[in-house]
Amino acid sequence: MKIIAVMNQKGGVGKTTTTINLAASLATHKKRVLLVDADLQGNATASLGLLPNKQGSVLCDLFAILTSQCTFKQALLQRPVHFGTKRGVLDVVPATIALSGFDQLVRALPNKQILLKQMLHDLRDYDYVLIDCPPSLGVLTINALVAAHEILIPVQPEFFGLQGLSQILDTVALLQGSLNPQLKICGVLCTRYNRRRIHQEVASCLHDKFGKTVFATRIAENIALAEAPSYGKTIFEYDAQSAGAYDYDVLCREMLSREIHHESSQATQKQNNQKRV
Ligand code: ADP
Ligand code: MG
Repeated sequence: MKIIAVMNQKGGVGKTTTTINLAASLATHKKRVLLVDADLQGNATASLGLLPNKQGSVLCDLFAILTSQCTFKQALLQRPVHFGTKRGVLDVVPATIALSGFDQLVRALPNKQILLKQMLHDLRDYDYVLIDCPPSLGVLTINALVAAHEILIPVQPEFFGLQGLSQILDTVALLQGSLNPQLKICGVLCTRYNRRRIHQEVASCLHDKFGKTVFATRIAENIALAEAPSYGKTIFEYDAQSAGAYDYDVLCREMLSREIHHESSQATQKQNNQKRV
């Protein structure tokens, strides 16, 4: 199981759009996927056309699980994804505005930074867990970065985007030195890309500076991506022929092929080590 936090403390860079569409694409590639909405705005939840469960008087969302008001299973929602001949199911832990009380409520708890890690710790049923982070560096985001194996960073190719990226990399380094030594960068993703010169310049600057850490796939600015959430649909369900659907499908394939490449190079290394013994 791989836990990926989709994170950037800047808002509007495409975190939620990336989380839901990548999760949906992975699900249709027959991967078992859990999406955790960790943003109190609940944009990922709403973009998938979902509402949290209600058990008794408690709204069963991420907040209710983390504060032990309901179980993981009680809060879990299943969202079928289908378009054309492709089928998949996404498991979703929804978010509501109740999460706004999280920082205050857990402030005095000694384990306040590892609550999400504890929640995900025993899960065995998933290949991927994608966490949609809020646009801040609060306790919830730290929980996501502590729970994650990897961080995926959507960046808009603009000057302030680059500046924000170095702040994120500092945060990652801090966590690697303390609460999460294993944390890796899954990749930096150029989002909302268009043909403006500044975008081209910043994108090539990203490639020069971070090399293969940057996904070769770029997500272009595409109106269908902005429209789909208001219909509660992923881009594939809303318009499978759109440039947005194409880009997120290519991103998913790039991620999966990186994984295969990584696994085969690990296997070769293991074989070489065995030969040496
Ligand atoms: P974040 O989660 O980082 O705040 P969102 O994914 O919610 O960002 O995106 C912010 C807004 O931009 C949303 O209205 C979304 O629909 C839109 N958007 C995101 N990516 C694209 C894109 N590639 N092309 C057009 N609109 C986009
Ligand atoms: Mg968001």
